[in-house]
Amino acid sequence: MAGKACNVLITGANRGLGLEMVKQLAETSCPGRRIFAGCRDPSAPKSQSLQELAKQHPGVIHVIRLDVADLSSIKESAKQVGLFLGKDGLNLLVNNAGMATHEDMKTAGPKEMQDTFNTNIMGPMLVTKEFLPYLREAAKSSGEPGMSCSKAAVINISTILASIAKVPETVAFFPVFALPYRISKAGLNMLTVCNAVEFKDDGILFALLHPGWVQTDMGGAGGAIDAQESVSGMLRVMSDLTEKQSGAFLDYNGQSLPW
Ligand code: NDP
Repeated sequence: MAGKACNVLITGANRGLGLEMVKQLAETSCPGRRIFAGCRDPSAPKSQSLQELAKQHPGVIHVIRLDVADLSSIKESAKQVGLFLGKDGLNLLVNNAGMATHEDMKTAGPKEMQDTFNTNIMGPMLVTKEFLPYLREAAKSSGEPGMSCSKAAVINISTILASIAKVPETVAFFPVFALPYRISKAGLNMLTVCNAVEFKDDGILFALLHPGWVQTDMGGAGGAIDAQESVSGMLRVMSDLTEKQSGAFLDYNGQSLPW
């Protein structure tokens, strides 16, 4: 499973799905595992649950300051993580950090568009770029054939709201329009497919996962499932990914989603 990936970086790990993913990965056994839990403000009260979790798993969970909307923070985090990695490299990067606003065309302005694009597209792009040397190292040093999340992979957390084919259905179903969010995540989908093609020969797998409609701060209390169910589903799906699914857009049950 993704559980076999030894060195893992998860962005936006202080709450919601990111925190739950750190927790579930820390609980699965993989000797020598290191989980780098990126969060933009490690000393803030909103990061307390992550800090407590890290204390329960000393030497396994490393809390790293990482603001995905700030290039200097991304570069600094890559330096810090690099000090731990050695020649094994980074097996798995989960670009989970994200933001959503509720606007439609009437209310969305340049600020909402820029902030959402910076976090949801530029963030994953620049984090991936800075950590690519470590992912390449993991792919090279692994003795495994093919591609997998335990070898070298980037999982970008997308959403069904990014599916162009499903716009009429999701607009009717969800209480908010979230225009900047939809557009940004559709861009993330394009980035991921392009990355899958560009880095195929490096042996790095890229895939998109929709976590379901989840009860987090972003998904709200009315979400269909809780974070535990979403993350255990996503980890199961990740564990089955091979080179055949590089560039795929799947939900937390492994169902393929239309673009
Ligand atoms: P939450 O709002 O609960 O958590 C968002 C996380 O992203 C927080 O840790 C937040 O950190 C972090 N974050 C936001 N901006 C930045 C930044 N610039 N740098 C670093 N971290 C940042 O959301 P979820 O856990 O629900 O969502 C996680 C992912 O899943 C997102 O990409 C989201 O789009 C996606 N998703 C969620 C769905 C749901 O129903 N919940 C449905 C479909 C997709 P901080 O505390 O500092 O703000």
